Amino acid sequence: MSFPVATIDAAALRSNLAVARKMAPRSRIIAVVKANGYGHGMIRVSRALADADGLGVARLSDAIVLREAGITQRILLLEGVFGAEQFALAAREHCEIVVHSPEQIDVLEQFAGSHRFVVWLKLNSGMNRLGFHIEEFAAAYARLHRCSSVSLVRVMTHLAESEERGEVTSKQLRLFDESVAPLGLERSVANSAAVISWPESHQDWVRPGLMLYGMSPMPNKTAADFGLRPAMTLSTHLIAVQNIGVGEAVGYNGIWRAQRPSRIGIAAIGYGDGFPRATRSGAPVLVGGKEAPIAGRVSMDMIAIDITDLPAAKSGDEVVVWGNGAPAERLAPYADTTCYELVCRVAQRVTLRDAAPR
Ligand SMILES: *Cc1c(COP(=O)(O)O)cnc(C)c1O
Repeated sequence: MSFPVATIDAAALRSNLAVARKMAPRSRIIAVVKANGYGHGMIRVSRALADADGLGVARLSDAIVLREAGITQRILLLEGVFGAEQFALAAREHCEIVVHSPEQIDVLEQFAGSHRFVVWLKLNSGMNRLGFHIEEFAAAYARLHRCSSVSLVRVMTHLAESEERGEVTSKQLRLFDESVAPLGLERSVANSAAVISWPESHQDWVRPGLMLYGMSPMPNKTAADFGLRPAMTLSTHLIAVQNIGVGEAVGYNGIWRAQRPSRIGIAAIGYGDGFPRATRSGAPVLVGGKEAPIAGRVSMDMIAIDITDLPAAKSGDEVVVWGNGAPAERLAPYADTTCYELVCRVAQRVTLRDAAPR
């Protein structure tokens, strides 16, 4: 086994799905597996989440990969597809599609195949990324309603800051409800943060991603606060230990200097593995299950850890940078990023392996 390794816990994925179900008991669940299942391996995650009511991906190419792997679940293309050729492929793969632009409706109106699409019509309720503006929404719906290549329309929107309990989200929810309620269609709004903290947004379908992987989207909370378990543990080993004197520097550019006689553990993981180079000294990782701070610049293949306070730590010890016991959402601020980005950026050279069943 080569290190670092990302251990993926299918039981945690299933348990997190059950938590989402409990939080949104009247809603069906689209499990979002875009970006290679948030770095956890899209096929592996999709198999573990076979009980979800559907899978959400950003790209048609992902849907094709899932079908080739034998996955027959509902697949929703969250950005829809573009051009007749892609619509034909989406039809062949039996994908449901988000429709957010007039150009997509043009293609549906001209669609020559016999497939009839399930369409999720997207309202731009304030995020100004994808979706029809409120004034264009009724006309877009009318076109889809008349379209012979459409069998069913559902409606959706996306929230811009659902991790805050503020007016921005209330306003988006109000606008969505006012514009779509008269249509009597099935609705979907909630991402993970809304599943957790906006019960009024749950409606017919929820679309959690992050929480299923056992990370918290909520500021100052970790997944454990919601009964969620990390599905990825990214680990490696100490491959060397250096004893250094007061004033000696560690790593490139010597940005960390020993204030006391120190022991520095060198772990085999770096930005070449997706561990962010921006991570600051002081960021906590686990060495042999105990917390210790990073010291100095992250290198391509290595990090340095101040293990002075862990006298038993030695070369060969396991180092966990995030996952069980070391929430990614706690490390992320030390690298000025979010746990979303940490897990998505795990590099190809990192081995993904299944956790041993417990
Ligand atoms: C990524 C995505 C989600 C899931 O968001 P999380 O914050 O990871 O739960 C839901 N809906 C859409 C449209 C998305 O793009």
